[in-house]
Amino acid sequence: MHASSPPTPGHRARLIDGKAVAAHLRDEVARDVAALKAAHGVTPGLAVILIGEDPASEIYVRNKARQTAEVGMRSFETHLPAATSQAELLDRIAALNADPQVHGILVQLPLPPQIDEEAVIDAIAPEKDVDGFHVINTGLLAARGTGIIPCTPLGCLLLLKEYVGDLAGHRALIIGRSNIVGKPLSRLLLHEHCTVTVAHSRTRDLADECRRADILVAAVGQARMIPGDWIRPNATVIDVGINRIEHPASDGPRERLVGDVDFESAVRVAGAITPVPGGVGPMTIACLLRNTLSAARQQYGLDADE
Ligand code: NAP
Repeated sequence: MHASSPPTPGHRARLIDGKAVAAHLRDEVARDVAALKAAHGVTPGLAVILIGEDPASEIYVRNKARQTAEVGMRSFETHLPAATSQAELLDRIAALNADPQVHGILVQLPLPPQIDEEAVIDAIAPEKDVDGFHVINTGLLAARGTGIIPCTPLGCLLLLKEYVGDLAGHRALIIGRSNIVGKPLSRLLLHEHCTVTVAHSRTRDLADECRRADILVAAVGQARMIPGDWIRPNATVIDVGINRIEHPASDGPRERLVGDVDFESAVRVAGAITPVPGGVGPMTIACLLRNTLSAARQQYGLDADE
């Protein structure tokens, strides 16, 4: 099917297999970690701080710790009570900034209301900010296309490069302008020479914007809000959204995860599409591991191939 020609009956988009790409990336990181240990005696270390008892965050942090250990890195976990003060958290971050065994620091968001998110992000040493949220890293990305790149947008970029190849000249629409996903991804895609549009809650005629996009990235947080008839035929669709919806089952309602795109109608029009789950999600932790490895190398003044 050519770009924008109508889909043939029975057409189904190629599935973008985030699980497989993430597994491959983790294997590469594990190999490079082993090489770094052998050549320089350096074991990259990732510290994760979790505050409070949010069950979704607890599962996510446990997965991070397991995958960190699986690639041969050290994992340091700090679990603080929900009532932790900002001063206590900043002290903990200062100790990790000074710890030579820790090369990456991640504070799991969201934070309890007594803690100012920006103050916490500002307190992390930029060279250990493996989430890439510090203004030094956002500035480096915006101005130079360098610095530590936030994990989810980096995961989206790697999927696009794997499935589309050269991105130059493609018309990309990103729906969502958060600091975590939309804004950094817009800078990454601009750096790849896409023509980038960023849509948000005040965008007029979102359906028309979508229909022009060769690459459509949805990072909104609204279950299935983008129907198939908004999608340009043969477009590449990256669905970042993770939304929990209830669906009926014989033993009562169950929860399941869906994206921001209505997968069933979109798969009949798009050229390639990420499933939810199994698309962008697995890439995020794999990119965190990659960022931790790069941060460790940088802190020892080593190039990527050393
Ligand atoms: P966020 O901070 O809540 O930002 C949502 C963005 O969507 C905002 O820019 C908002 O516009 C825009 N928006 C809201 N309603 C809209 C509408 N009706 N039309 C157009 N734009 C609309 O969310 P986020 O942190 O970026 O996360 C977005 C989604 O990605 C969530 O489902 C989240 O769970 C998921 N996520 C997944 C991963 C992963 O690893 N797969 C990682 C991070 C996030 P305004 O700016 O105008 O308010």
